[in-house]
Amino acid sequence: MNCYECVQSGRAQEAVAVCWLCGAAVCTEHVRSETVQVREPAQPGKVIHDQPARRLTCPVCRAAEESP
Ligand SMILES: [Zn+2]
Ligand SMILES: [Zn+2]
Repeated sequence: MNCYECVQSGRAQEAVAVCWLCGAAVCTEHVRSETVQVREPAQPGKVIHDQPARRLTCPVCRAAEESP
C-alpha cells in the first residue's frame, strides 16, 4: 500500500503505518507517533498500566486534534 498523503501530492511512497483515526496509510515521513498513557477507571484489585501505549496518526488527524 502507498502512503495516502504522498499519493495526494502525486508521489508513490511505501506506507509503514495506518492512522488509527481515519485508517489512511502513511509513510515514515508522514506518520505522527505519540505515546499515550492508558487510563482505566480505578477498580479494586486491578493493576494500573504503567507502560505507555502508542498511537499512530496521519498529519490531517493530528492537525485536527491539535486545532482548538
Ligand atoms: Zn507520505
Ligand atoms: Zn488520519
